[in-house]
Amino acid sequence: MLLSTDALVLHSMNYLESSRILRLATREGGVRSVIAKGVRTSRKRFGNAVDLFAQGTAQLYVKPGRDLDTLSAFDVSHPRPGLALDLDRFSGASAIAELVMRCTRDASDASLFDELSQVLDDIAGAEPHDAGRVALRGAWRIVAALGVAPSLEVCSECHAPLEPDEPARFHHASGGVLCVRCARRIPGGRLLPPAARAALRAWTEGGDAPIGEPAELRAHQRLLREFLAEHLADGRPLKAFEAWEKGWSAA
Ligand SMILES: [Zn+2]
Repeated sequence: MLLSTDALVLHSMNYLESSRILRLATREGGVRSVIAKGVRTSRKRFGNAVDLFAQGTAQLYVKPGRDLDTLSAFDVSHPRPGLALDLDRFSGASAIAELVMRCTRDASDASLFDELSQVLDDIAGAEPHDAGRVALRGAWRIVAALGVAPSLEVCSECHAPLEPDEPARFHHASGGVLCVRCARRIPGGRLLPPAARAALRAWTEGGDAPIGEPAELRAHQRLLREFLAEHLADGRPLKAFEAWEKGWSAA
């Protein structure tokens, strides 16, 4: 079966002498593994289409029961070279790609695809000093698009509403913030200052919010990593995410 679909390169690995195996996010077929045969010896058929984060229209031969599709053509409309030019942008985009690869299956999800495309555009267009925050915002947008946004306005255990200026404990296993009473009963979690909670709310709702010091970015990254470990990942380490969190530019 030939599948023609909008697609975006999440991961690329050389295979044998002339080919590459790619992981593609597609609008019509979810996240798929494809082989691009001969791509490294002939640029004619694929051009620059197999570069990381490039987006366009892909033609895939899909065989039922096979894990690997064959990429027969890829017309790039959106190469996103800006992501490769800056390490902060690149590591943020790589963390986003990893999140999508680990947390989605081959079911089609057009709105997730569009969200991912927008998030990568935002990171590509971010000022290098702001790329970390923009990637963080994008990660929470994708978490929300996956349908697992945390509860931030009401207690995730008893659903009592919380005051906006009230510091609250964020409890990963409960799936969001806890009211004072539930926090007394349930141990663990991290204290979330009102500004950080407001930022999370804005990001998961598709809005924007600033953050202050680099230390706040790190605290947010840690919270997101713990949240993903609890709700989405399969126990394997999120390597690109860890590299992003360590900070290439700070290394
Ligand atoms: Zn409660």
